[in-house]
Amino acid sequence: MARRVGVVGAGIGGLATALRLAHEGCEVEVFEKLAHPGGRNARLRVGQADFDAGPTLVMMLDPFRRVFEDVGERIEDHLDLRLLDPGYRAFFPDGSTIDATSNVARLTDAVRRLAGPADALRVPEFLGRTAALYRDAVPNFVERNYRSVLDLASPKAVGLVLKHGMTANLYRRVCSFFEDDRLRRLFSFQTLYLGMSPNDAPWVYAVLAFMEYGGGVWYPMGGVAGLTEALARLAEARGVRFHFETPVRAIGAGTIEACGRTHRFDAVVCNADLPYARRHLRQRPLRRSLRHSCSAIMLYADYQGSLDGLLHHNFVFGRDYLANLDWVFHGGPAVPDPAFYCCASSLTDPSRAAPGHHNLMLLIPCPNLDRPLSEDDCRALTDGALDRLETISAFRRGGIREQTALHPGDWRDRLNLDKGAAFGLAHDFFQSACFRPANADRDGVVYVGASTVPGNGLPMVLISAELATERVRRLIG
Ligand SMILES: Cc1cc2nc3c(=O)[nH]c(=O)nc-3n(C[C@H](O)[C@H](O)[C@H](O)COP(=O)(O)OP(=O)(O)OC[C@H]3O[C@@H](n4cnc5c(N)ncnc54)[C@H](O)[C@@H]3O)c2cc1C
Repeated sequence: MARRVGVVGAGIGGLATALRLAHEGCEVEVFEKLAHPGGRNARLRVGQADFDAGPTLVMMLDPFRRVFEDVGERIEDHLDLRLLDPGYRAFFPDGSTIDATSNVARLTDAVRRLAGPADALRVPEFLGRTAALYRDAVPNFVERNYRSVLDLASPKAVGLVLKHGMTANLYRRVCSFFEDDRLRRLFSFQTLYLGMSPNDAPWVYAVLAFMEYGGGVWYPMGGVAGLTEALARLAEARGVRFHFETPVRAIGAGTIEACGRTHRFDAVVCNADLPYARRHLRQRPLRRSLRHSCSAIMLYADYQGSLDGLLHHNFVFGRDYLANLDWVFHGGPAVPDPAFYCCASSLTDPSRAAPGHHNLMLLIPCPNLDRPLSEDDCRALTDGALDRLETISAFRRGGIREQTALHPGDWRDRLNLDKGAAFGLAHDFFQSACFRPANADRDGVVYVGASTVPGNGLPMVLISAELATERVRRLIG
């Protein structure tokens, strides 16, 4: 008889696990509180523009390919992936810019033009170091289920940690490569993808820079949400039953409580964010106090007019980057011009907005709800970012036809993200690898998603689904 598995949450983690288990012959039911699949990776319509509400950058394609291949499909039949070259434009406060590319020759040349020959010479060396780090860290520390912290004590693991100096401070290490302050930002800010300050991050997270420069930034035509939509379609075709608008109230070993009744399964997988799930669905709050990632203020604008000067992806740095990080992560005073990210995928894919319009999205990293911002603070920060956009591009506020904003409280209320931490639990050293909350409770409930192993971001959560599937397989045979 087929084994029955219940999955709580239809984010990318829940969908990929449900699909994998259905492919292995399990009967799978998914319970999702929202009316649609995708969680953070869902579509949002504002006026005549179509947005990816959360993830917009696709990097590290291997886990994306595997989730299709492992169920007998080809990613090319479901997603039209395009390499963006340049991947993004970075804007600095002195008015200079650089276009980041995975073409090493062009990147080196751009660095030479920005900062001079000495720093340009260091680019290949930096990429070589991060490539070697990536090669050793991903299979040995990321793509594995841990039994205990002792797994890190093996001679091989210790040897690799020492060989790469994985625990060294990432920002200081990047500073040792590059003299120019702008390059120090450019080659370290990627930890913000995980909601973590480069100043707090261990060097092992320099793998993110390699993912970008070594593997490139990709875009699936039609939107990044097309990925979760494809997984949901495939899961449904393999018999997975979805219950949308069905919030789960509690999870036990083999039980899910929803719609006023108890559903029984051979195994339960929880994709609701782990700190929330442990506290509210399991009544077993995590014993140690864990640090959360930062949050994000979002603006989605249906914009009519020119965006000359901007690329599909743009990172805009303020004057005092380190003080900005201190404000976001440690409660330092607010800076007048915080860094932000700005995306207009309609520049690559005009189908995402009406003719002459763009889907302009802003993401401003901000403190999580440990240090709540008022609505006025959020509006002031957004206004500041829009002012800056007007100085660096053809963008003009008057072109906004309709807009929607998300603030830290929305992440908590819509998606049950503890403390409104948009990127889940933080990734400092003692919350990484085997120190991160494990993906299984002692009673067998399995977790998948950004706040368990290996961590946040679409490729990591796809790997999390591989690890969760392995746990379920071991549990139910
Ligand atoms: C603003 C933003 C930008 C990002 N940008 C990128 C990017 O460019 N590239 C990248 O790779 N990653 C990015 N990320 C990270 C990426 O979005 C996440 O790592 C990933 O989507 C998390 O997936 P998940 O399955 O763990 O969780 P989620 O997507 O949060 O899914 C969990 C699901 O569980 C459901 N749920 C919660 N509680 C219950 C309950 N009680 N009952 C039923 N259902 C419940 C939720 O509704 C949700 O659908 C970004 C994230 C954010 C917030």
